[in-house]
Amino acid sequence: MSRPQPVAVAALPTRPRLTIDLDAVAVNTRLFARRTAGELMAVVKADGFGHGAADVARTALVHGATRLGVTSLDEAFALRDAGLVAPVLSWLNPVDADWASAVARDIEVAVPSREHLDAVIAAGRGARVHLHLDTGMARDGAAPSAWAGLCRAARRAELRGELTVVGLMGHLGCADVPTDPSNAAGRTRFAWGLQVARGAGLRPTQRHLAATSATLLDPLSHHTMSRVGAGLVGIDPSRTTDLRPALTLTAPIVALRSVRAGTGVGYGHTWQAPRATRLALLPVGYADGLPVSASGRAEVLISGRRVPVVGRISMDMTVVDLGDTPAELGDLACVFGPGRAGEPTVRAWADAAGVPEHEIVTGLGGRLERVHTPSSTSLRRLS
Ligand SMILES: *Cc1c(COP(=O)(O)O)cnc(C)c1O
Repeated sequence: MSRPQPVAVAALPTRPRLTIDLDAVAVNTRLFARRTAGELMAVVKADGFGHGAADVARTALVHGATRLGVTSLDEAFALRDAGLVAPVLSWLNPVDADWASAVARDIEVAVPSREHLDAVIAAGRGARVHLHLDTGMARDGAAPSAWAGLCRAARRAELRGELTVVGLMGHLGCADVPTDPSNAAGRTRFAWGLQVARGAGLRPTQRHLAATSATLLDPLSHHTMSRVGAGLVGIDPSRTTDLRPALTLTAPIVALRSVRAGTGVGYGHTWQAPRATRLALLPVGYADGLPVSASGRAEVLISGRRVPVVGRISMDMTVVDLGDTPAELGDLACVFGPGRAGEPTVRAWADAAGVPEHEIVTGLGGRLERVHTPSSTSLRRLS
């Protein structure tokens, strides 16, 4: 066995880079636009699922989406600040949110309660609201027992010229498992909610229940619009449909070392080299969004080969076991990508970590260098 060699340290590129493939977003958007008879709302909350809200929004609007959806008003204002003029709906805000600015900036808002309705009315005339019914998640949206009262109060406000009810919305919690009985129950409750609203005199033109999975698997849930987020960036929670992942994370090898059998690696020495081997250090860790729970399970691609992540992923660093895989300082490791060149996917990392893919893509840290292809500038010229 050879003696451990001195550690070689790179003076070269040290930054991990996240590449965001907007062509993939375009392809996915077109697929969803084909799959629904209604309108397609591009949901770009959480910075477009970590892909850049304005860039994903622009791409989606060019390729078939007609509306945008976000959680908070701040996210909606950021879209306006970025120059986007398409209709935007924001669906989760505190009662004392800045409703006046929402109206002034032409943002539609979801109303889940009488308190919200009163606050929106108090902020001035002209609001465009979507009444939100809880269709079985016990999360947001009005309880069925409060629905008729909410619809009547909204209709009275409409008759006074204070606001317009342009939409009714619900959301399904188990749409990725189409056989789950809660899907039919949610659809039935939504249909009931539409009838109650109609009985109160409301005639909203947008009626929407389906997100990614229901759009793909449950045409009965489509109504007049689908709100699709994950699917546009290539995540299919139902794993039934071939979507294109849009993210590629690469990191240069910044150090190489040969170690003896038995060498403990990283915090807690959770992995000990079972044989003499060569290790590579990547300057990316959990502060960048790699899940610690994928330690010892995930892989990366180096020199065309899969090599395992060993030891515990650190805040800023990850160690991989090269074995006899050839590699030099500065060589790029592909942490994840679309999988076309044999690299692991976000899904593989998610499975290794025991988390949904959404958690990985929305958790990627702000210090990663981000590159959009095609460039954001060319997109801005398009839209
Ligand atoms: C996040 C969200 C969506 C989008 O869901 P996906 O499964 O990512 O398409 C739609 N509607 C609501 C209310 C949401 O919170």
